[in-house]
Amino acid sequence: MTQDNTTKIKKLDGKVPAGPVQDRWKTHKFNMKLVNPANKRKYSVIVVGTGLAGASAAASMAELGYNVTTFCIQDSPRRAHSIAAQGGINAAKNYPNDGDSVYRLFYDTVKGGDYRARESNVYRLAEVANNIIDQCVAQGVPFAREYGGTLSNRSFGGAQVSRTFYARGQTGQQLLLGAYSAMMKEVNNGKIKSYTRREMVELVIVEGKARGVIVRNVVTGEFEKYTADAVILATGGYGNVYFLSTNAKASNGSAAFRAYKKGAYFANPCYTQIHPTCIPVSGDHQSKLTLMSESLRNDGRVWVPKMKGDKRSPDLIPENERDYYLERIYPSFGNLVPRDVASRNAKLQCDAGHGVSATGKAVYLDFADAIKRKGEDKIRAEYGNLFEMYQRITDQNPYKVPMMIYPAIHYTMGGLWVDYNLMSNIPGLFVLGEANFSDHGANRLGASALMQGLADGYYVIPYTIGNYFASEKFGKVETTHPEFEKAFSDSKSKYEKLLAINGTKTVDEFHRALGLIMWENVGMGRNEAGLKKAIAEIQALRADFWKNVKVSGSNVDINTELEKAGRVADFLELGELMALDALERKESCGGHFREESQTPENEAMRDDANFCHVAAWEYLGDGVVPTRHIEELTFETVKLTQRSYK
Ligand SMILES: Cc1cc2nc3c(=O)[nH]c(=O)nc-3n(C[C@H](O)[C@H](O)[C@H](O)COP(=O)(O)OP(=O)(O)OC[C@H]3O[C@@H](n4cnc5c(N)ncnc54)[C@H](O)[C@@H]3O)c2cc1C
Repeated sequence: MTQDNTTKIKKLDGKVPAGPVQDRWKTHKFNMKLVNPANKRKYSVIVVGTGLAGASAAASMAELGYNVTTFCIQDSPRRAHSIAAQGGINAAKNYPNDGDSVYRLFYDTVKGGDYRARESNVYRLAEVANNIIDQCVAQGVPFAREYGGTLSNRSFGGAQVSRTFYARGQTGQQLLLGAYSAMMKEVNNGKIKSYTRREMVELVIVEGKARGVIVRNVVTGEFEKYTADAVILATGGYGNVYFLSTNAKASNGSAAFRAYKKGAYFANPCYTQIHPTCIPVSGDHQSKLTLMSESLRNDGRVWVPKMKGDKRSPDLIPENERDYYLERIYPSFGNLVPRDVASRNAKLQCDAGHGVSATGKAVYLDFADAIKRKGEDKIRAEYGNLFEMYQRITDQNPYKVPMMIYPAIHYTMGGLWVDYNLMSNIPGLFVLGEANFSDHGANRLGASALMQGLADGYYVIPYTIGNYFASEKFGKVETTHPEFEKAFSDSKSKYEKLLAINGTKTVDEFHRALGLIMWENVGMGRNEAGLKKAIAEIQALRADFWKNVKVSGSNVDINTELEKAGRVADFLELGELMALDALERKESCGGHFREESQTPENEAMRDDANFCHVAAWEYLGDGVVPTRHIEELTFETVKLTQRSYK
């Protein structure tokens, strides 16, 4: 990593409209060009990924009259990772009358992201959030209600108001059923062609514009070519690079990474969210970690024994020997501090010897007070499915003993760089939902990913894609075009190469080893030496992978090992890019504690003079150090301050 690319750095233009932040989206909507209704049917769009972001985008565009083709890996869009979302979705309806407003939601989100997101995008997100709730209620999403019939709200971290709408602990599932129904209505109308069990393996660019994709049919192993006038990636996040995470096992970074290799910039790849309330790792037999929703911090109190190494069972530790450290250190926000703050404090407590469980890598989340105050039935009504899940996994009854929790990889704020229109630097390639980098800065607040995915899909892309179509000229592109032929044969040969290696180690062995390197060095605490070590180790692991991986089975049938191998091959490159990005960002921000950048009290210290920007990486070829472009972030509305939740 010695090549100096600084001379080539571009200052990226986020194409943010001028004017007061409150008016930008309204003005922009008016200024954007429209496609008249009769002409919409002349345009075609590919949507890769049909989780909340993709399904809502596909349904909205098809309703407008565009011809939409969708792809997803699972056997139904209903099984996207979005289904796992438990806790809720934010909006500033202010139903509890506790002082919320669009401005406050905007403010909390910018602050929560540690001032590393674009103000204009975040304002738009807060502005359209209320529409999402109305839209979903109209679709029949069964949000929790008060006895009188009004929609219920609960609190999430980083906010002092209750603005989270929820459907028990299954909010993502219910929202996805709403988006899926809207999408299937258009499948029925013939406006959407939905292809399941397809994995996008290449983006095709013709004359500088995104014009199609190559997908692999994961059931037959066949490769297929599809053309369109624009391509949307809504393929989710890449948290699984760490092997152990709360993400669904099929979540991957491949579509975004392959677009990166075709010239799309990858922004802030090192921004990963580590969620404070997950069931702790219990050994090396696991392939997945389980989230206990942040909503539990509404009623659960986090504590550790004051005495180091205290192995007594929690009921034997009296009140005065417990440290409710979040309530003690952050009296204003208490247990509802943002995720990065809660995660870092849990790690600090465990590193200092106060951790509980056999491994010492856990803290308590205790519901005893809430059960006393509200009664067990009320707690069961609010969190019953989460408590049941916890009990099934740990064989402990959280109504009787405190849960044990520890931080785990959960979400990726980084993703493909997009401008205000959600278009990447490749014309015609749009990126939505967790796959883009746009709205959460260095730390995403709880219940805001669902909000962003649906805002992108229902309310932003339907406008901005029309503007793109109306502003460009499109010749017809056939799948026989040389760019399609090349992308097709490149894709095939990559999978053939993987099968031909016939080494001795499984794909999972490599993935697990990569995960360990990432967790140790590119996790919550980072330093220069560790990051350099990680880069060298990942390079060595990648070289070993291409010599020694064993992928059994063939390319003409269902072969989940081959699918995994393709994704892990990409993770082995993406992991290095993440470490490189972390190495260059010599500041602490969000949950990314850069040990060289801390206050005398060991608190994280941002460096606004040098790092108040988005870093967007440009691929220059295998083995070549990518170029780090930057987009300056300006804060005209919210003042840049040291975050405080005290
Ligand atoms: C356990 C858990 C709980 C969560 N709870 C909450 C919550 O309460 N509130 C909240 O706001 N957020 C929550 N989140 C985060 C939130 O669920 C996700 O960020 C969000 O659902 C992502 O939606 P998406 O549409 O961007 O992507 P996804 O739902 O991940 O969908 C990705 C889609 O892309 C497809 N795909 C991927 N790669 C390819 C490819 N190469 N080719 C073809 N298709 C591809 C997949 O098949 C899928 O259809 C939670 C996350 C986890 C892990």
